[in-house]
Amino acid sequence: MKKFVATVFACLLVLANPSFAENIKFTLHKLDSGRKGNTVLVIGGIQGDEPGGFNAASLLVTHYKILKGNVWVVPNLNFISIIKRSRGVHGDLNRKFAAIRRTDPEFSTIEKVKELILDEQVDMVLNLHDGSGFYRPSYIDRTHNPYRWGQSIIIDQERIEVEPFGDLGSIAGDVVADINRYLFSEEDAYHVKNTRTKLGNVEMSKTLTYYAIRNLKPAFGLEVSKSFTTYERAYYHLRALEAYMDLLGIEYEKNFQLSANSVKSAIENNVQLAFYGNKIILDVKNARRRLGYIPLKKASEIVFKPSNPLIAVVEHGRSYRVYHGNRRITRLYPQYFDYDFSIDGISMNVDGNQKYVDFGKMVGVGKSFLVESRDGYRVNVIGFRKPGMTSECGIPIEQNHIEQRFSLDKTGQIYRVEVYRGEKFAGMVLVNFSGDHESLIASNPSKPSPATPSDWRDASSAPTGR
Ligand SMILES: [Zn+2]
Repeated sequence: MKKFVATVFACLLVLANPSFAENIKFTLHKLDSGRKGNTVLVIGGIQGDEPGGFNAASLLVTHYKILKGNVWVVPNLNFISIIKRSRGVHGDLNRKFAAIRRTDPEFSTIEKVKELILDEQVDMVLNLHDGSGFYRPSYIDRTHNPYRWGQSIIIDQERIEVEPFGDLGSIAGDVVADINRYLFSEEDAYHVKNTRTKLGNVEMSKTLTYYAIRNLKPAFGLEVSKSFTTYERAYYHLRALEAYMDLLGIEYEKNFQLSANSVKSAIENNVQLAFYGNKIILDVKNARRRLGYIPLKKASEIVFKPSNPLIAVVEHGRSYRVYHGNRRITRLYPQYFDYDFSIDGISMNVDGNQKYVDFGKMVGVGKSFLVESRDGYRVNVIGFRKPGMTSECGIPIEQNHIEQRFSLDKTGQIYRVEVYRGEKFAGMVLVNFSGDHESLIASNPSKPSPATPSDWRDASSAPTGR
């Protein structure tokens, strides 16, 4: 199978604590194929406690390549609430589309999303949710009844007067039929749920989808049941998203098979951060709770590149907390250095093979590795010590030569190799003894459809460049 894993090209600044709430911004990822076709806007994370939706949207960004048409994704709309595992730290963001005070802290977020929805290129809007129980058209029991939301495609009304996707009811019906071919069990069957918003559903009239409907943009709410694990939820959302893409003639490929297990590993294995243009790489998928002596750049803003758009780094006292969606994964304790830019990697001998390794890469090691010495540079393998040596190059190092407590990961497989020139930090590579060493950020042979820095700027200032 073809291999590609996206780099999320947005360069993010670390968020300083005092302005935490104000500064954390959603990102917009325009997956443009370059081939003419329809454009669908996918929104994840409008409520912070619905991980099925925002993880599915994130996977769309990192693991799908769009071949025809366009998919625009906001995977982390209510990013602050995602980090805080809250439905909405400033109230329910999905009830602010009919009216909002100028003084509301989410005023500008709402303005930007509205603009994005109204963008004339957008043909359809999909808003991803995790809902309670299982929607059924008639009452069966407490968890299966018309008042539940899970496993449904939500429409506000049967149709709107717009071509060619105004027939909301029949489109939702087609999507439901498609998803229902791929159920884990009969109980999971999807249904169309019409909230009949115009006929007096006050709550629903305040939502994102109804804002779109009022403006004649076809829009749907996608609800997966909170009864499932996050991975199962993301699975069903991706099934629904693929059904919509098929219906819209949007062509795509992905580098994993759609199953709950592969969704799980796609989410879990892709948690890396690169700092300062790949000078530092950290694989934090199974990171220790605290990582010490991270060589950050003195007197400089911290800029990092995450391997997926649900990663956030937040300043906390003298440390930095790293989040992945709803999970707090580790805490970084920095040591500050001036940086040296004279080299971009190191020569290594890995299990007998000579190779040049760029900074920011992770190298798989079977038995041993050795860093070739180079005049003027000092190598520090974190956790390795040999009395009398100032630089740890020129000697073969095996896993059991390194103190396990210095590994990045909890299982003692991944270690840091740092290079210094005098007092200056020159760069880092990781060695991974687990045999699983794909570097998701740094080795980037074919990017699917990366968001560009200008997309990030668009999203953080104004989606249409206002
Ligand atoms: Zn929701």
